[in-house]
Amino acid sequence: MRTVSLVSVALIITVGTLFMPSAMAEMSKKQQKEYPPKDVLPDVNSEIVKKWVDEVDWSKVPKLPVAKAEIPNSPDCPSEKLIPKDACWWTCNGCVAADDIEICPREKAWGLTYDDGPSPDTPRLLKKLKQANVTSTFFVIGSRVLEHPETLLQEVKEGHHIGLHTWSHAGMTSLTNEQVVAEIKWAEKAVFDVTGLKTKYWRPPYGDVDNRVREIARQLGYVTVIWTKEWDSNDWQIPDKTITNKEVIRNFKWALSTVPKLKGGVITLEHDLYTQTVNVAGSLLDMGMKKGLEPMDIARCVNDPHPYQNSVLAKKPESTDAKKPVADPKKPATVDTTKPAGSAAQKPFAATTPSEADKKAEVNPTISMTDSTTTKGSAKSSSATQLTLTASGVALLTISVLMMTL
Ligand SMILES: [Zn+2]
Repeated sequence: MRTVSLVSVALIITVGTLFMPSAMAEMSKKQQKEYPPKDVLPDVNSEIVKKWVDEVDWSKVPKLPVAKAEIPNSPDCPSEKLIPKDACWWTCNGCVAADDIEICPREKAWGLTYDDGPSPDTPRLLKKLKQANVTSTFFVIGSRVLEHPETLLQEVKEGHHIGLHTWSHAGMTSLTNEQVVAEIKWAEKAVFDVTGLKTKYWRPPYGDVDNRVREIARQLGYVTVIWTKEWDSNDWQIPDKTITNKEVIRNFKWALSTVPKLKGGVITLEHDLYTQTVNVAGSLLDMGMKKGLEPMDIARCVNDPHPYQNSVLAKKPESTDAKKPVADPKKPATVDTTKPAGSAAQKPFAATTPSEADKKAEVNPTISMTDSTTTKGSAKSSSATQLTLTASGVALLTISVLMMTL
């Protein structure tokens, strides 16, 4: 843990101080136009998506049927016998692949995750986390990143870990192969353009993943993160008025009562999209810590000192600190159909309406940030992108120096 902690501290300090030029904190309307429309499936016939699609070796992607759904909702599950045996479809038969992350290996370790942001309520949550001296993983939606890039930068600056939660929050198994690629890569690009970080962990919306979607994500360099059964806070139902704040707290209290019997740690599912979910998040954090759980981001949970695809470090994580090896995104799937069914498919989360976003764009100053055609390895990087990459390089150098002094 010492290595990971030091690396994390170095990353926090260096990334925090170098990645925060205020000029990058806003996205101009012009730049936003270079992205697909928010909260809808991106066009798969664009040149950039075709290029991303070509990065995948399609001979290795299982040919599973595309699920039926009213996009962007989670798909309708067919009866168990109609689900192909090699699907390993988490939402519909609870199957977990060997390289899915659904728990923290160490006892008392608490993988703290917040999905669907950034939102106007996220800074309030960040304040609470800072007071508690805790870092979490934020699984962000590309469309929200465009609206609140400054909040994403604040998350990085304050040492939190960023993962992807797709571009428009559609159920992945109901998308075509090309749509899956576009949903992941557009969100990845949004995070990269704002922070210079190429994400490595993702959470499929609704946890909706099967072996087809997993393999596409793996080939794009991603580790799939679900959550621990029984540790879904269902906080999103508070604004939906199908559950009360008190019921969420009561359910969490019940989950905490199972901690002494657990063989490892847990990963919880919460959301930072709504005022009500951020309101309850503070209570849940206090309760969990009081019960002896140690909250942490997913990188720490799995002891991964390489929490981004574009961070390169010399040392491997200390094996003594993790009972389960760090997930390898390139590792082929091993289907485990013996695991019990996971939680039922959830309702979709309402996204901020385009009119609200447009309103914000009117208010915010327009400062050019990146050339939207810039992708990894492209020579067309704007000065801002070059700045982030330079900062990234300095960050890595700093980390390397720290590692060498250990
Ligand atoms: Zn979500």
